[in-house]
Amino acid sequence: MLITHVRLATLGDDPRLVEDGALLVADEHIADLGTTPDLSARHPGVERWDTGGQLVLPASICAHTHFYGAFARGMATPGRSPANLPQILESLWWRLDKALTLEDVRYSTLVCLVDAIRHGTTTLIDHHASPNAIAGSLDTIAEAVQEAGLRACLCYEVTDRDGPERAQAGIEENARFAQSQIVNRKSQIAASFGLHASLTLSDETLADCVAAAREMGLGFHIHAAEARADQEDSLHKSGKRVIHRLHDADILGPRTIAAHCVHVDEEEIEVLAETGTWVTHQPRSNMNNGVGVAPVEAMLQAGVNVALGNDGFSNQMFAEMKAAYLVHKLAQRDPRAMPGDVVMRLAYANNARLARVFWPELSLGELRKGAAADLVFLDYCPTTPLTADNLPWHLLFGIEASMVTATVCAGRVLMRDRKLLTLDEETITARSRELAARVWERVNGRRHD
Ligand SMILES: [Zn+2]
Repeated sequence: MLITHVRLATLGDDPRLVEDGALLVADEHIADLGTTPDLSARHPGVERWDTGGQLVLPASICAHTHFYGAFARGMATPGRSPANLPQILESLWWRLDKALTLEDVRYSTLVCLVDAIRHGTTTLIDHHASPNAIAGSLDTIAEAVQEAGLRACLCYEVTDRDGPERAQAGIEENARFAQSQIVNRKSQIAASFGLHASLTLSDETLADCVAAAREMGLGFHIHAAEARADQEDSLHKSGKRVIHRLHDADILGPRTIAAHCVHVDEEEIEVLAETGTWVTHQPRSNMNNGVGVAPVEAMLQAGVNVALGNDGFSNQMFAEMKAAYLVHKLAQRDPRAMPGDVVMRLAYANNARLARVFWPELSLGELRKGAAADLVFLDYCPTTPLTADNLPWHLLFGIEASMVTATVCAGRVLMRDRKLLTLDEETITARSRELAARVWERVNGRRHD
């Protein structure tokens, strides 16, 4: 397929903006790129897709999300408004996840995948919980991801909050799913080992998880120091701060994701850098939960790998980028904080490096020969000059998710002219509304158990 007449933003180490550009997609990769006249001459007779001058960027990557949370949209949580993150977990998330059946898991996932395709996000790193439907839940999610044609890294969050049996069931689900991926590898699915957070995990459970994960060479995906409560709990339980506790338990390393790290001190930042642990930043979630602002620039300066996730917010990573760009300026009362090119680095270069942990052969986040053909098309007609250098500020101030018209993942067209080609959006939406209403009934029925 030869995609012609595009405004091509390559990103990567040698970022270029090619006017009247073209891309040759062969199988799952970009086989050639350049200008439309050059590529038309080099590749005659290839099927054409004339975009009429749309902007084409590498598709977005989300470093931390929760497909299971989709049914929370608009759900009432009666009683007093939660005053902190532990109360939010107890009144909302730990009620919602307990109400999910495997069919709910499937549709909650599909709803998120429709949203991801609509907004040009093709690679997602998910963290799943459904305590009353643990066994097989990761296969259910994987099937939906494959139907959609997207790419996802999956794990189940192990926790002690629901007793030892379910903690064990969570360990088994992670191990079983990862093993199935080793035996029968599906190219667009990968596995990690999920842990909820330090505050819901005992030393014994952490040790069991390390033993299970080590056998398969898996890293972990855990929430870390999201709120002060995680630090208070860790100090109380172990006399150590969260990152030190996780380090001593052998959880950290270059294959591990520590989501949030809002409340980490200088010594913890050093440990994160020394161990090569990935930190994911989710500013929309942090603002919503009122937990604080992660010291992202201090972590970057110390050499920590920082990536950008969405924590279950919409899969429009452009919106997450805008939040990251703005919140640090406000928090530091300094308009120089978190410049646009740094936001860009998190969202593309760093997220692509994180994706390589799970798909080592893949080159994402840039458009060049041999890179994955993961593309987003935007109907964006800049009203000021657009260059490779000023692209971040066009993304932050000009581009809106509503401009996305097409999404390609691994060379497969998942949306064209705003029409989804792999998922039946109408049917998914209708079934989701039915299932969500039943989940809400079960959530409210359990309120006074
Ligand atoms: Zn999360």
